[in-house]
Amino acid sequence: MGELTNTADVVIIGGGIVGASTAFHLAEQGQKNVVLCERDLLAQASTGLCVGGIRQQFSHPANILLSQEVVRLFERFEEEFGVDIQFRQAGYIFLAQHSDTWEDVKTSVQIQHKYGVPVELLPPEEIKSRWAYLEVNDLEGGTFCPEDGYADPYLVTMAFANAARRLGVHIREQTHVTAISVEHGRIRGVSTTQGPISAPIIVNTAGAWGGEIARMAGLKIPVKPYRRQVFATKAFDLIPRPVPMVIDLDSLFYFRGEDPCIILGMSDREETSSFNTHVDRAFLERVIEAAVYRAPVLEKAEILRGWGGLYAITPDENPIIGVIPEIEGFLCAVGFSGHGFQHGPAVGRILAELICKGQTDFDLTPFAHDRFGKIRGKSERRAI
Ligand SMILES: Cc1cc2nc3c(=O)[nH]c(=O)nc-3n(C[C@H](O)[C@H](O)[C@H](O)COP(=O)(O)OP(=O)(O)OC[C@H]3O[C@@H](n4cnc5c(N)ncnc54)[C@H](O)[C@@H]3O)c2cc1C
Repeated sequence: MGELTNTADVVIIGGGIVGASTAFHLAEQGQKNVVLCERDLLAQASTGLCVGGIRQQFSHPANILLSQEVVRLFERFEEEFGVDIQFRQAGYIFLAQHSDTWEDVKTSVQIQHKYGVPVELLPPEEIKSRWAYLEVNDLEGGTFCPEDGYADPYLVTMAFANAARRLGVHIREQTHVTAISVEHGRIRGVSTTQGPISAPIIVNTAGAWGGEIARMAGLKIPVKPYRRQVFATKAFDLIPRPVPMVIDLDSLFYFRGEDPCIILGMSDREETSSFNTHVDRAFLERVIEAAVYRAPVLEKAEILRGWGGLYAITPDENPIIGVIPEIEGFLCAVGFSGHGFQHGPAVGRILAELICKGQTDFDLTPFAHDRFGKIRGKSERRAI
């Protein structure tokens, strides 16, 4: 593992997509002496367990802008990083069953069009003519954006981490941060299982554990872990390729192609906050029911395996990104719900600008940590 550097200019806590992207962008923008501490191995937590979707179909302009930046980056990723991240622009289909969901979708599409997202509003018969395997009789309508798709989260994270290493970042795996030292309102450093590191700046990119890291610095932030379960079928060729990401907005069931199989998942509205990631067979039955309802041909698919990972969720389902003014030198980028993989690459750039230049052009107001209490309910209506 090599000697642990015991001083740093910046310590990043967490080696998922957000931490790896931040490490790369810091080094790329000229920041020296950056250390990333990951208690396990890189990309083994939410990032490695996620389904890799990226879509511009959000309701909040800030989320649309983050996705647009990353879609453009993924389109040229291999050129820049020399890694094929398996980016497939197979599109995302959102389906609305209830009339209020459909009204909400149409409002979001107006916002998406304002930002130049090439999303189409489709009546049920048009959906059926393009994707004959979908049941549409109960639908009010749907949307399709052909630029959306999916990529391999592990490959993207490792590409950022390897590029960061080449630029001099020290990436310390199996290095658990156990305490944060704050003196007179200023960050002084961290204690880790491999020894202490003194540093004036800490970036909290610990995903579902982001609340715990903030607590180590004496701060309470409203980020909670929630289990999300995913299942993969055995090889299944009865749905023609490419299979877009299909999201049933009313049931929160989704599926997409992952050759040679199909990946299925569903957000469980009844899940309570915990770090539990066990697979629940009873929940699988509900996923299968939703799958066969929406794409009856999936009745012929066999489930090969399932796994659970964690969403990190805030009260309005948008992340907390930026400096935390109460503690000098403390930054957070946590609480991404189901869109941290796709937003992490842009968020790393934004955090690096904040650290290297003291400012960023990206308006972080919707993601400010002190916004809670000023807003009610969800501010992102397309969080699933
Ligand atoms: C089933 C599922 C499907 C998903 N699908 C999508 C999708 O399609 N598209 C999308 O954009 N997003 C999706 N997501 C969400 C996405 O996975 C997350 O938003 C994203 O991976 C968050 O990245 P991260 O770097 O913040 O967190 P993580 O990847 O969880 O990384 C945080 C890291 O911090 C480390 N850590 C924690 N505490 C400490 C400590 N004390 N010391 C050192 N290290 C520490 C952890 O070990 C972990 O590796 C999905 C998530 C799940 C669970």
